[in-house]
Amino acid sequence: MEILDGKGFASILKAEMAKEVAMMKSNGMKIPHLAAILVGNNGSSETYVSNKVKACKEIGFNSSIFRYPDTISEKELMEIINKINENDDIDGYIVQLPLPEHITENKIINAIKPSKDVDGFHPENAGRMIKNLPCYIAATPYGIIKLIEHYKIETKGKHCVVVGRSNIVGTPISILMSRDTYPGNCTVTLCHSKTQNIYEYTREADILIVALGKPGFIKADMVKEGAVIVDVGLTRVEDNTKKSGFALKGDVDYNEVAPKCSFITPVPGGVGPMTIVALLENSLKAARKEVYNS
Ligand code: NAP
Repeated sequence: MEILDGKGFASILKAEMAKEVAMMKSNGMKIPHLAAILVGNNGSSETYVSNKVKACKEIGFNSSIFRYPDTISEKELMEIINKINENDDIDGYIVQLPLPEHITENKIINAIKPSKDVDGFHPENAGRMIKNLPCYIAATPYGIIKLIEHYKIETKGKHCVVVGRSNIVGTPISILMSRDTYPGNCTVTLCHSKTQNIYEYTREADILIVALGKPGFIKADMVKEGAVIVDVGLTRVEDNTKKSGFALKGDVDYNEVAPKCSFITPVPGGVGPMTIVALLENSLKAARKEVYNS
């Protein structure tokens, strides 16, 4: 069994990006600038955004956080988005989800200028991804693809089973794994909460990608011998042995499943760091105007 070391690979990619940013600086070019909009004070969202800002600092990007109370109206948030869309200093930005219930997430996502949508959630980018056109691929699926590629995992003709069909993870990764390219060319099965006898599918998977948010859901008897396992799940569970009082758990019962696999991502240290590095890469592409001209 080999560990898919997302943390290690992400460090290598960050070092490469840091070199490029340093070169841009010394050539007098504009420094890439990634911004984040954070509404309310959800603890997990705070952590995700501060990790992204920390990663920006590590590689020399400029970054900013626009914070608003959860009482902000949809109209006010729209006005802010329109301003950021027109701010030439900001190359790319994200709106940290979830948003408060009175704000329609889709309306906000649809208002982001596609050329600055480095999270890849705008329908323009999602559509381009489906058609294999230049786009920003959503950070988590993009990070997974990069990890699979880095470990040269064979995907052609394999059966890839994805558990979870969210717009940000399950659905895009299922599309990417079925595209006529590498990594891809898999036969893909997409499972969700209405799937009956889910183990009948997971047991058939050569590559199993799990993103449902239920810690330890995938047990050893749900996995084929020699499978490649990508665990996207990241849930805080109470743990009194930790100083913070909680531990981060994946959707796969790692201790049970790892001995049966050929490759597996740890949690933490697998998909999480790859997600951040994928976001940085999208932001660098935005600064270089590589995907859209303006
Ligand atoms: P989500 O939007 O809550 O979607 C969960 C999906 O799982 C849904 O499609 C749901 O089915 C399905 N599901 C729920 N219970 C199920 C069950 N018993 N059997 C089969 N499918 C079931 O979740 P998400 O945003 O994709 O996130 C999933 C997990 O990944 C979470 O733990 C999240 O924290 C983590 N995550 C990690 C990263 C990272 O960087 N590491 C990034 C993003 C997300 P229905 O559609 O039928 O409801």
